[in-house]
Amino acid sequence: MTANVLFAGRADAWPAYEPLLKAELSRLGTDADLRNEFAPEDVDYIVFAPSGPVSDFAPFTRLKAVLSLWAGVEKIVPVVPVGVPLTRMVDSGLAQGMTEWVVGHTLRYHLGMDAHLRGQNGIWEPQAPPLAKDRRVTVLGLGALGTASAQALATLGFQVSGWSRSQKEIEGITCHTGPEGLKAALAQAEIVILLLPDTPATENTLNAETLAMLPKGARIINPGRGPLIDDSALLAALGSGQIAHATLDVFRVEPLPPEHPYWAHPNVTVTPHIASETRESTAAEVIAENIRRGEAGEPLLHLVDRSFGY
Ligand code: NDP
Repeated sequence: MTANVLFAGRADAWPAYEPLLKAELSRLGTDADLRNEFAPEDVDYIVFAPSGPVSDFAPFTRLKAVLSLWAGVEKIVPVVPVGVPLTRMVDSGLAQGMTEWVVGHTLRYHLGMDAHLRGQNGIWEPQAPPLAKDRRVTVLGLGALGTASAQALATLGFQVSGWSRSQKEIEGITCHTGPEGLKAALAQAEIVILLLPDTPATENTLNAETLAMLPKGARIINPGRGPLIDDSALLAALGSGQIAHATLDVFRVEPLPPEHPYWAHPNVTVTPHIASETRESTAAEVIAENIRRGEAGEPLLHLVDRSFGY
């Protein structure tokens, strides 16, 4: 039987997704009718983003799955009915974009680039940066994006540690778990990168207590989610010099309000949630594959575990 697939992403994304998804579904031999409008009671799968037209799932009475276009699902988990399988976006384009952003900002800190960008002052101070092998970097969150970023940093030679909920074994990365593992991962981190999901368990992972576990003068890069950091504690740590600088891409309130102290802070770089994004061509492959799996009765890829919230 034909599977009815509703595209409920942003309206302006439909022209790009429509041909890609149709081509992928046809390549996989999946009998599907993809549209951006359907009577809700006829829909089998929703390709979903919170920025799209669907906010109430109640009229969708025969849903087989909701396929998120976003990797972070904290806004999606609460609205998708319990019992309807929900998948999140894991795709190579998203991982590549995040890796490039993380490596770029890590190298900026590692090489001390800001001093030279600001230092067009006629003062000749020759001090070469250390090699990556002498720089310790910690990645909090070793999922799709954290692992890709950590591996890229390890390939460059950085000493990379990571932390996740379940114990991992990743070549070239010292992997930690649990509260003691967090302590160990932070204790030596000169640069910390946050790639955890936003869940009740990860809120304020960096707080006054954990910021104090970092070596003095550590730097923070947060492309994960705003609530991972206790903002008041970070501002206090920036004030005391415990944290030398923070690069923040995500915030509790987005867009970050103009009056927020992060904007004017000399030791904070704000970027407007651009670390990475879902790329249509690679995302279409993942979505189509999951529709194929759903129709074939095979397990879906990248299922969200509601009990953990990601
Ligand atoms: P994954 O779900 O693949 O990875 C999440 C990682 O966090 C896993 O390693 C997981 O552990 C770990 N984790 C979850 N809860 C805890 C906990 N309580 N304690 C310790 N570790 C925990 O997510 P992705 O890598 O795909 O994405 C990470 C986040 O990046 C997204 O949730 C989203 O918020 C953000 N993001 C930001 C973007 C941007 O442009 N700024 C773009 C895309 C995503 P385990 O491996 O054991 O499950």
